[in-house]
Amino acid sequence: MKKRLMVLTILLLIAGSFAVQAQETPKENKAKYVFYFIGDGMGFAEVNATEAYLAAKKGKIGIEKLSFTKFPNFGMATTFAANRYITDSAAAGTALSTGSKTNVETVGVDPSKKKLRNIAEMAKASGMKVGVITTVNMNDATPSTFYAHQPHRKMYKEITTDLLNSSYDLFAGGGLKNADAKEALIAKGYKVTSSRKDFASIKKGSGKVYAMCPNLDKDMACRFSIEQDSSDIKLKEFVSKAIEVLDNPNGFFIMTEAGKIDWANHANDASAAIKDILALNEAVKEAIKFYEKHPDQTIIVVTSDHETGGFAQGSNKTEYESDFSLLDKRPVPEKAGISWTTHSHTGMPVGVFSVGMGTENLRGYIDNTTIPKTIISLMGVK
Ligand SMILES: [Zn+2]
Repeated sequence: MKKRLMVLTILLLIAGSFAVQAQETPKENKAKYVFYFIGDGMGFAEVNATEAYLAAKKGKIGIEKLSFTKFPNFGMATTFAANRYITDSAAAGTALSTGSKTNVETVGVDPSKKKLRNIAEMAKASGMKVGVITTVNMNDATPSTFYAHQPHRKMYKEITTDLLNSSYDLFAGGGLKNADAKEALIAKGYKVTSSRKDFASIKKGSGKVYAMCPNLDKDMACRFSIEQDSSDIKLKEFVSKAIEVLDNPNGFFIMTEAGKIDWANHANDASAAIKDILALNEAVKEAIKFYEKHPDQTIIVVTSDHETGGFAQGSNKTEYESDFSLLDKRPVPEKAGISWTTHSHTGMPVGVFSVGMGTENLRGYIDNTTIPKTIISLMGVK
């Protein structure tokens, strides 16, 4: 009798522990579908000028909000690096991918060169599918901080080897600079496409894919939106394809970088910057469509790694006058009322726009490392 009672007690304890475990892992309480958008070099002045440009084109004074400036949560994030106040994309990307400050020019490692685990690796290890999309070369600083660990951002070959070993499910956009990796990608099981026709043939179930922009430049980056025609695959098409390919019962993590905003700002080309911010705006709309179908399990975060160019609204030449509608075409007319302080980066904080469960924690004046830390905790990954 006593023995039976003991067996029963043990059985109840085992059943109870299963019940507790089952309670602890309901996917519903976690961010299962995560969209992380980074407008490289996209300061708040640029975002707001894009809104003002849309209004000015309709002859109105004021702004027209973008898809992500309508999000319920808004914050500002500081961007400084561990060893320099004005950061670069490698240190800022590492902060945004790992939640740790590091030195400029280093990718996915701390100041002592020790590897830092990033959010995409955590997602992959937890069984989620992972996609990395960019409009610049895939082994450029920002995208590489989501899969690579190297002491210098210009170690393109080593960064490419890290990409090949990542086994991520999707790469899309820019190609690989200073690295001929097509054969190696195919050997690793990737379907590699570089034309619109082949891109269209990618379907759910295609397996691992690397879809490149059809018109890559010498740096293996996609063209500026302002230069694109119907032969170019738009950023929003890459995001929509990523959703199609990566949607699965274990969820996904998609990092999308609008990298050429930074390149436009380095060149002090406001027209190109605004057109690339509008391309990002369209890409975010694809994520919003998905969010509307799965509002309890999806989060969307749109931010930037740093500001580039010291983009300002107003100048000594135009004083109180501005006409942002003139930014529709290059060259940037001085009459538009835009001015710049530098061809480099600035130390200005950047906007953080978010929607979805738990993202209210990204409101307020925060540090950039808070962004991935918050997303990681919402995803429940390690
Ligand atoms: Zn950058």
